[in-house]
Amino acid sequence: MDRSFDRVTVYRTLKTFLDKGLIHKVLDDEGVSKYALCSECSKENHNHEHVHFKCESCGQTQCLDNIRIPEIDLPAGFLAKEKNLLIQGVCDQCDQ
Ligand SMILES: [Zn+2]
Ligand SMILES: [Zn+2]
Ligand SMILES: [Zn+2]
Repeated sequence: MDRSFDRVTVYRTLKTFLDKGLIHKVLDDEGVSKYALCSECSKENHNHEHVHFKCESCGQTQCLDNIRIPEIDLPAGFLAKEKNLLIQGVCDQCDQ
């Protein structure tokens, strides 16, 4: 199978899912884009302003849908389009 074709297909699929509000982008600590399922998004209304949590122990990144990203006051002239907040630590599954 042609690998470059594959990548394009995957990219298009991701893009379609993003546009439809099925998945959203999650930034990892390495700056790698990962994707997670949207819980309450629709095509018209995306809301991803929740915190993500990366567990150092199991390596899983998860959505904390109920934890909102706080308002950030940007300097004059700056326009925020996307906010990401990644918290790193130990998740409830790993915390003994
Ligand atoms: Zn969404
Ligand atoms: Zn964990
Ligand atoms: Zn999320």
